[in-house]
Amino acid sequence: MEFRDLRRQYKAMQEEMDHAVAGVLGRSDFISGQEVQALEDKLAEYVGVKHCITCGNGTDALELALMAWGIGEGDAVFVPDFTFFASGETPANCGAVPVFVDVDRDTFNISPEALERAVKKIISDGQLKPRVVVAVDLFGQPADYGRIIPVVQKYGLLLLEDGAQGFGGDIAGRRACSFGDISTTSFFPAKPLGCYGDGGAVFTDSDDWAEVIRSLCVHGKGKNKYDNVHLGMNSRLDTLQAAVLLVKFRHFQEYELRQVNKVAEWYASLLEDIVGVPAIQEGFYSSWAQFTIVCRDRRERDGLQQELKDSGIPSMIYYAKGMHEQKAFFGRGIVPEICSNTLYLKERVLSLPMHPYMGRDDVRKVAEAAQRAGGKRIW
Ligand SMILES: *Cc1c(COP(=O)(O)O)cnc(C)c1O
Repeated sequence: MEFRDLRRQYKAMQEEMDHAVAGVLGRSDFISGQEVQALEDKLAEYVGVKHCITCGNGTDALELALMAWGIGEGDAVFVPDFTFFASGETPANCGAVPVFVDVDRDTFNISPEALERAVKKIISDGQLKPRVVVAVDLFGQPADYGRIIPVVQKYGLLLLEDGAQGFGGDIAGRRACSFGDISTTSFFPAKPLGCYGDGGAVFTDSDDWAEVIRSLCVHGKGKNKYDNVHLGMNSRLDTLQAAVLLVKFRHFQEYELRQVNKVAEWYASLLEDIVGVPAIQEGFYSSWAQFTIVCRDRRERDGLQQELKDSGIPSMIYYAKGMHEQKAFFGRGIVPEICSNTLYLKERVLSLPMHPYMGRDDVRKVAEAAQRAGGKRIW
């Protein structure tokens, strides 16, 4: 069994995909070909924002947003403690200080209460200027924007939605990647909408920020690439990846997103009596970048992972460390209070194989291995 079966996905769209790729090879317009603009238009419309700017990967997308806002030395950027490294790496690379905030135990997403306490603490300490909240749509479920946005507004901050795992999710019909002042996503192959290499995108309603970001991702270009008005970077989605994404996006909308939600339902119904299954908030829709269960303790989690492995089933620990525990942030990041939920989760979480091409039998096989682990009194 595959953790995320990209070969099965390719088989499901092979003819179309081969044709799309051959089209780009035939024209050989590898950079800024027609597919790039076509994709940006389609993604912006789907998400429901004015601008989509594609770029090299989801990490660059975050950095481009922070650069457009001029985030740097002396600034505090609030980041969930339980997320992928890039959410905190990018503010640190801009010279800002990442401030790590605990998450909610049930949703894995940043806790709005802990966020407000962290902002107050940074203000009362008086050393840093609070500027940005990075809210991550972890494992596919949008962060709790209904409670995050009031905090962001109360303290005059900017909201950066890291939707690398969230593309396709929504809250009451409003789509992920539309909640931030700027939002970003990643097209890394294993993400909900992935390409065949690295890719990413930035979304915003702001004409001004969109213009700056379009410049920053081509060496801070002005009138053209050889007239440079900002210090930028080279970060573009190439034509081949855009062509791949146009094909995949059609399948994503037509059935993949629906299907992966069905797989999540099968998992939940077979596993809910055995382990903690992910809680999706009322009115929220997940794109299921991961299906992450929570065991009772570390011993149970490690026992279950071993039983799965013995049955030929891959699983992953997302995430084994809090951000504040990453050596790279020692002396660079701040943790205003103990992130007890992160510390709880990192010992107990396990992400199971998850993708739209899993059949009911695959899901049953995983659940049976979990039952066997329970039967062996691993718990
Ligand atoms: C994958 C990921 C990123 C980075 O995306 P890349 O395309 O791999 O650079 C950023 N944030 C989160 C939460 C991610 O999962």
